[in-house]
Amino acid sequence: MYFKLGYFWVAQKLFDDMPTRDVVSWNTLVSGLCTNGDVDKARKVFNGMVEKSLVTWSTMISGYARVGKVEDAKRLFDEMTNRNVVCWNAMIAGYTQNERYGDAIELFRKMQEIGGMRSNDATLVSVLSACAHLGALDLGKWIHRFIRGSAMELSLFLGNALADMYAKCGCIREAMLVFDAMKKRDAISWTIIITGLAMHGRANEAFGFFCEMIGCGAKPTDVTFMGLLTACTHAGLVDRGLKHFDMMDKVYGITPKVEHYGCVVDLLSRAGRLDEAENLISSMPVKPNVKVWGALLGGCRIYKDSDRGENVVQQILELDSDHSGSYIYLANLYASTGRLDDAVKCRLRMRDSGVTKMPGCSWIEVDNMVHEFFMGDLSHPQSEKISSMIRELQQKLKLAGYKPKTDLVIHNVDEEEKEDALFTHSEKLAIAFGLISTREGTTIRIVKNLRICDDCHGAIKIISKIVHREIIVRDRSRFHHFENGKCSCNDYW
Ligand SMILES: [Zn+2]
Ligand SMILES: [Zn+2]
Repeated sequence: MYFKLGYFWVAQKLFDDMPTRDVVSWNTLVSGLCTNGDVDKARKVFNGMVEKSLVTWSTMISGYARVGKVEDAKRLFDEMTNRNVVCWNAMIAGYTQNERYGDAIELFRKMQEIGGMRSNDATLVSVLSACAHLGALDLGKWIHRFIRGSAMELSLFLGNALADMYAKCGCIREAMLVFDAMKKRDAISWTIIITGLAMHGRANEAFGFFCEMIGCGAKPTDVTFMGLLTACTHAGLVDRGLKHFDMMDKVYGITPKVEHYGCVVDLLSRAGRLDEAENLISSMPVKPNVKVWGALLGGCRIYKDSDRGENVVQQILELDSDHSGSYIYLANLYASTGRLDDAVKCRLRMRDSGVTKMPGCSWIEVDNMVHEFFMGDLSHPQSEKISSMIRELQQKLKLAGYKPKTDLVIHNVDEEEKEDALFTHSEKLAIAFGLISTREGTTIRIVKNLRICDDCHGAIKIISKIVHREIIVRDRSRFHHFENGKCSCNDYW
């Protein structure tokens, strides 16, 4: 009890004074130390224990995972000769918590291979969360069938995890079916659907769900409002967004966080209301971060407000001198206004200060396996076939009249090289791989870690038409359903 209350020294003293100690009391000590984040001390106690139970091991594994020491957790896990479902869950959840989604899924597979090891609610919640992040729909569906087949009760947590997986994998209809089938729902359940609809650009339905949610007496959270504001951003609903932003505090008593401000600045900036966006930033009670300024910079880019843009870049670089987007913006701005010397200087400054862009990465699931592609990545075993598919697409796109947006690429390479550079983008590699490894007509689903670039967006529209496939890309901010030459976002993203 004293551990939970944070009276650590009281607990330790009590423990030291105990006349006899059994494994349960030792476990409590290890667990308390882990909860406090003192894993090294916990490990010392752990090592000194003569008798350890499976609980001891699981506690120590979770403790390591909680402070980000996944490798130490895994080493301990591997040392175990005998494991129960709690130990497996601790390790799988540890991977998920530390964003090692591929490893989480891998370990879950191993667990399945071992006969007699039954996964429970907690296992499936972790794995579903990994599926949601990677867009691993097939595995997610398999888990859904498994839940049905084993007559497991769809608990609140499991239901939420399942609905979230479907929503994040682009199957909003299935997410709603799960939602409907749930016996109990909480604010998280509603928020999952609202956010899912928002990411698909279905703003009106998102607001419809919000009204229902309020009607049912569920209390919206700051995450719910993030969903609503994103819905407005993706649909360009400026006034509705501003109204709900206002309601957050006034009606629901939720203090907007910096993310909410970022969303509203984005909303105003995209609509060209740059003055209002800038005023909002200066009136913020919290310090604006790079994302908030970045949203305004996006507006400056669209509406070619270069004076404001230069100022914003200064603000961003003060917060983050490695902000690649700012350098690229400046370089492109200079280049487009004929100040080539300045553009080159800016590129050099970027290179000299060792600024690198976060590498673009895309995932695609084929036959229950998640494949990962980085920009210009040739490490895939089928890399040669992928390259020849890329060349084929390149030719077909040209014939279809596609003009690559080479102005997005660094300015000191010639046109052809620029074009090739665009074709090494991770989403194009993943699509090429999808085309060569799935049956004709199969929908291709991609998840990308960054926002999809202008060129890929335009190219994929045409690819969907040429190859007669539906292509669904989830980028950092939303879903794009490409079909027959069009995208569901109507080029607004
Ligand atoms: Zn691209
Ligand atoms: Zn789109």
